[in-house]
Amino acid sequence: MTDFSDVFDTEMVGRWAAPGRVNLIGEHTDYNDGFVFPMAIDRTTTITVGRRDDRLLRVASTFEDGLHEMSLDALDPEAMSGWSAYVFGIAWALGQKLPEVLGLPSAASALSGAMGLDIFVESSVPVGAGLSSSAALECAAAVCFAELWSLDVTRQFLASVGQLAENDAVGAPTGIMDQSASLLGQADSAVFLDCRSLDAEVIGLGFGVASLELLVIDTHVEHAHATGGYVERRASCEKGAALMGVPSLRDLDVDDLPRASSILDDVTFRRVRHILTENQRVLDTVRTLRTNGPGAIGPLLDASHVSMRDDFEISVPELDLAVATSQDAGAIGARMTGGGFGGAAIALVPTALRDAVSAAVLDAFAAADYREPTIFAVHAADGAHRVD
Ligand code: ADP
Ligand code: MG
Repeated sequence: MTDFSDVFDTEMVGRWAAPGRVNLIGEHTDYNDGFVFPMAIDRTTTITVGRRDDRLLRVASTFEDGLHEMSLDALDPEAMSGWSAYVFGIAWALGQKLPEVLGLPSAASALSGAMGLDIFVESSVPVGAGLSSSAALECAAAVCFAELWSLDVTRQFLASVGQLAENDAVGAPTGIMDQSASLLGQADSAVFLDCRSLDAEVIGLGFGVASLELLVIDTHVEHAHATGGYVERRASCEKGAALMGVPSLRDLDVDDLPRASSILDDVTFRRVRHILTENQRVLDTVRTLRTNGPGAIGPLLDASHVSMRDDFEISVPELDLAVATSQDAGAIGARMTGGGFGGAAIALVPTALRDAVSAAVLDAFAAADYREPTIFAVHAADGAHRVD
């Protein structure tokens, strides 16, 4: 299936697009109520939408043949599965959250005036490369539904709707970073997000003016224990906070490290040290961008990688090689990005060295007999929007 009219015979009313994201810095800090600094990228998921005169949502994607449907009157996470849960889940989550913000009596009442839609999905966000194709799909659906159903809500609210859909309809225990980046991002900027207050500030990056480019190096490594590793790291952070007598690691900062080292066992201490220093690195990155510009943030990216490799222990040899090779070939900073145990690294490189860095990483992977990575540049782009 290649386009809307191959599948649907309703009249097309519009198209909405939402970007994937790259997290520049601030890893595993989200569920510790800390700071993250992601940017929306120039890879998007686009939905083409037709208005129906009944209450059915029908979805199709270039991913597979066939279509999935669900009535707005029968939205139920238990009945959702597969990729369509990302779209149906947004409608369900709107029903759950709208009554509170709009002062409505029930979930059913929230969408009682909504009409059904035919939705065709296509995307240039690679799946599972750590660029959040899931949030791109959710956020495209969220801005489309908000507009077509005349819901007067903020983008921050839609981010929380996306998170609820991903947590409870899809069943993935993720934070709110990806949706915030996809909804609040702006060209040439990143989103400085406080995961406790949910305050978000858009900070200019200035990569282009400084002749810098951000490369994504997708190692294609997927580790079976990624989910287990994530759960275990979360548990270590909770244990560290409890032993330190605070609700969350956000309530500590780097000045608390000496006390932490006297109280905590070695492993828990190193997990805690990653979170506290990573929060500080996010703050330092934002401050450095403002005072010295993007050419000065490289050491913070490098230090973030060392912390994830040695203290949080979520890197893998392929990511370490991608980072070290990029640095040797002229990147001003590099780090693994995303949850770890595989996925992608990012390297901030002078534009003139972009091809040399890519070639060096490809050579190093070939020499190590690792699977060939996919390397591409990404640019900070606008968040979810109507296309036409
Ligand atoms: P990512 O890191 O890319 O977000 P996830 O596992 O969180 O990886 O989300 C990927 C899932 O999102 C896919 O398996 C699929 O279910 C859904 N998805 C993403 N893009 C599309 C698309 N264009 N069409 C259909 N489903 C999609
Ligand atoms: Mg995802």
